[in-house]
Amino acid sequence: MSCIEQKKEDSYFKGGDSVLCSDGAKDTIPNNAFETMAPRAPAETPVERRNGRPVKANDIPPQGVYLPNNNYLAPHMKSPEYVQLSNAAAITLGIMGGRMYRCECTRCLNLLLTYPEGCRANCAYCGLARHREADRDYADRNFIRVDWPAVPMAEIVDIVAQDPTNSPFHRMCISMITHPRSEDDTFTVLKAWTDRIDPATIPVSILSNPTTMTREDVQRTKDLGADIFTVALDAATPEVFDRTRGKGVQSPHKWSKYWQILEDAKDIFGPQKFGAHIIVGMGETEHEVLQLVQRLVDLGGHSHMFCFFPEEGSLMDHLPATPRDQWRRVQLARYLIDYRDVRVEQMRFDQKGRVSNFGISDAELSDIIDEGVAFRTSGCPGKVRDDVSACDRPYGDSPPSNIASYPFQPKKKDIRLIRKQLDIPVSVE
Ligand code: SF4
Repeated sequence: MSCIEQKKEDSYFKGGDSVLCSDGAKDTIPNNAFETMAPRAPAETPVERRNGRPVKANDIPPQGVYLPNNNYLAPHMKSPEYVQLSNAAAITLGIMGGRMYRCECTRCLNLLLTYPEGCRANCAYCGLARHREADRDYADRNFIRVDWPAVPMAEIVDIVAQDPTNSPFHRMCISMITHPRSEDDTFTVLKAWTDRIDPATIPVSILSNPTTMTREDVQRTKDLGADIFTVALDAATPEVFDRTRGKGVQSPHKWSKYWQILEDAKDIFGPQKFGAHIIVGMGETEHEVLQLVQRLVDLGGHSHMFCFFPEEGSLMDHLPATPRDQWRRVQLARYLIDYRDVRVEQMRFDQKGRVSNFGISDAELSDIIDEGVAFRTSGCPGKVRDDVSACDRPYGDSPPSNIASYPFQPKKKDIRLIRKQLDIPVSVE
């Protein structure tokens, strides 16, 4: 097989694209392609470990805050009395010690519904997935790379209600899971918050689980004071969705149901008040994920992006994290589509679907890269500006040693690294 030099027509794309083999394949390491990103098949869970049986049978009453520890049996905690919250939120709330690399706090209070049975879905990339009941109780499972302490909801509300105006939190978010009680308990948790804390002071987002939801449920979250409704689509194409969260892993989710609830959210919450989570690097091409970003913008919504990271204990923990060049291109292009009115049709892509031109001038692109906001964690906005997410999820999609989503404003040294990862030379100042 002979290789020929490919003529570059774009000044920006210098990395990994210079040699094209005559069969169309690149001689560089391919990015996280569909063929590479196949999850393991889930193993059978022993009957005695299913549905949180040990936790329910022993029925140990919870006492205050529970810190995840897989060395002993978890107490019997369940929503709406109990919720789990991210490590970052627990540190910021002051109920757990610890410091975060280059972050003072998180601006989003991320809450997660909790039950001994856990989430009944089996998503291949997720640390909360059902197959994990074989080896650990639900309250002890890692999720987006961190532990999630369990705390009485009343205690959280008591702390924040003392002074919502000066709270470090710019937003609260309730993450639903796949469980028969998920909707009712979301309403109760939301009401417990809005009864004591004005949602105009600290707005609330819902990260929904469409599989068990109806349009009326979406409306109810709005009526109870939710500000933004998001759908954890996670997969960028129907094929990736089916393989990672549908029948490919004995999980109940359907692409069509997720879109139905997304459409309901568009109607009920209105422009800029709905969106979808997308994980980049699970087998879709850059072109495919950016077409999805454009579709969401055309509907009036936003995309909130995560860089795929092989979560320990998940069915994809043997697979590579998204290479930084792939992630940075998607991150930058997504920011241009979401916030700078650039359309995916203006961009150019190579034969592997990779961004080869961002559709704006070199000078404009350079300014946007140097501003750094494009590379921050994306999500629902806080109190700073529309394109800066309150939901900063410190190190939820990468280790601090190789940051994917910056949970803080990148400094000059970060921008230098980002430019290197993008293979866009450092600008002359
Ligand atoms: S529905 Fe959500 S929480 Fe449950 S396994 Fe899937 S991604 Fe994880």
